[in-house]
Amino acid sequence: MADRDKAKRADVVVIGGGIAGLVSALELADRGFSVIVIEAAETVGGALAQHTVGGLTLDAGAESFATRNTATRTLIEELGLADAIETPERTAWIQYPGEPASEHARELPVTGMLGIPADPESKSVTETIGTAGALLALKDHVAPTKKIAAQRPLSLAQLVEARMGKAVLDKLVRPIVAGVYSAEPEDLDADLALPGIRKRLVDAGSLAKAVASMRQAAPAGSAVGSLKGGMHTLVKAVDAALRERGVTILTDTAAHTLEREGEEWVVTIPSRGKGAADAHVVGNAVVLALPEAEARALLNGILEVPGEDAVTPEIHLVTLVVDKPELDTAPRGSGVIVAEGAPVQAKALTHASAKWEWLREEAGPGTHVIRLSYGKQGDGADYASWDAQTWRDTALADASVLLDTELTGQDVLDWDRVSWQGAQPSARLGHAARAAAIREAAHGVPGLALTGAWLAGTGLARVIPDARARAEALAESLGAPLGEDPGIGDTLGGP
Ligand SMILES: Cc1cc2nc3c(=O)[nH]c(=O)nc-3n(C[C@H](O)[C@H](O)[C@H](O)COP(=O)(O)OP(=O)(O)OC[C@H]3O[C@@H](n4cnc5c(N)ncnc54)[C@H](O)[C@@H]3O)c2cc1C
Repeated sequence: MADRDKAKRADVVVIGGGIAGLVSALELADRGFSVIVIEAAETVGGALAQHTVGGLTLDAGAESFATRNTATRTLIEELGLADAIETPERTAWIQYPGEPASEHARELPVTGMLGIPADPESKSVTETIGTAGALLALKDHVAPTKKIAAQRPLSLAQLVEARMGKAVLDKLVRPIVAGVYSAEPEDLDADLALPGIRKRLVDAGSLAKAVASMRQAAPAGSAVGSLKGGMHTLVKAVDAALRERGVTILTDTAAHTLEREGEEWVVTIPSRGKGAADAHVVGNAVVLALPEAEARALLNGILEVPGEDAVTPEIHLVTLVVDKPELDTAPRGSGVIVAEGAPVQAKALTHASAKWEWLREEAGPGTHVIRLSYGKQGDGADYASWDAQTWRDTALADASVLLDTELTGQDVLDWDRVSWQGAQPSARLGHAARAAAIREAAHGVPGLALTGAWLAGTGLARVIPDARARAEALAESLGAPLGEDPGIGDTLGGP
């Protein structure tokens, strides 16, 4: 136990310095608890990462937040960044299959949620799904709601097809779901994708009215927002707020094991000294804010975690910075969502310098930032075998098709590829029940809180309020802060 005496100590140890871990730490520090955050990577932030391409500092992961609830905005305001909030300058397009591609691209109709139209009879929706599809969608007005609302589990595809037919499912919902969740609507849990949808459906009497009511419940304005300078600037602000509150942040420090010894939680971390024994961090409570596989590994021996580790697709983002004045007109608005069968490998393209004003100004006229994403469940591509040239050439070819503008290697000022494994959990069918079972199991372990996207669902609008709620519940279970000295005074790095 001698080395345990030298362990760093805090009231609460937060394992995982993604946004979930950082927000939990902030909530606990605000309540007077001493906190140590342990982060495996060299910087905190997780999927809220940054990279520099063509001299521009850009988001390497998440680039916006959904405004359907106020969770992210509230955090941004609390951190004093309200003035930096920006909304997209333009709307997105969808690329459908067919040649020439330019004749099969359409501006995304105004929809309710995830492509489900709040007004299936509107001109833009009818033009997209066709008259026959629009007629089928009308059955939503009259079909009884209770049976489908009681079906368990209920996939998003089952819900949409039962209410509005296949055209709405395939032409609107499927491509949008692929872009947001990297999954098919058949595999997506309706309860996770549209929380509260069953009750709204029964109360409103139709799916169109149910999604309209969800939209109305959300704050007015654009469905997404971001921050001038990029979404990753949120991480910098949280990091600074944590430092101000005396939170210790250990980066480049992976938690290897987690054990419960009496009332204490002991985390093993690598030692810094050459040949030295493992070091430890000890807390009266622990927050696990990790991706699923890592959380399961650490919980081994502490908790029987129900269910299997979710298989999540690897996501690859290719960012091109190009000198192409023809793109100043933003031919495809803020970007393009790719429908099944369209003649490109990418699943979506963001014309970032057309979407965000701050980036347009920073890049300057003629210079454009284009981000393409690859990888969705079961797309069959062997991305591991692609070399740098293949990535760049595929991205250029796809961007040329999707933007209807010829782009060649000569236009490229710089480019980069970032891959994300397991950072975007599939909200797969039955996951809501599975997450509830995992939480129930964890509830019986005093001083343990589980948070992060694998349980809360993908996206900042889910992860941030969940992290707050879990930290709040943990704080209440702990009672008054114990006033432990964190043991080391300084933080060891940041974003
Ligand atoms: C490419 C991409 C684009 C996205 N775009 C958007 C978007 O535009 N809008 C949106 O709302 N959401 C978006 N998301 C989703 C959103 O970013 C995530 O849901 C959210 O950031 C997850 O936060 P988290 O803290 O739960 O997990 P993570 O960000 O994955 O953080 C987990 C942290 O744990 C650390 N860790 C792992 N193992 C250990 C260990 N053993 N010890 C210590 N630390 C460890 C990791 O290094 C990581 O920092 C996107 C995600 C990806 C991958």
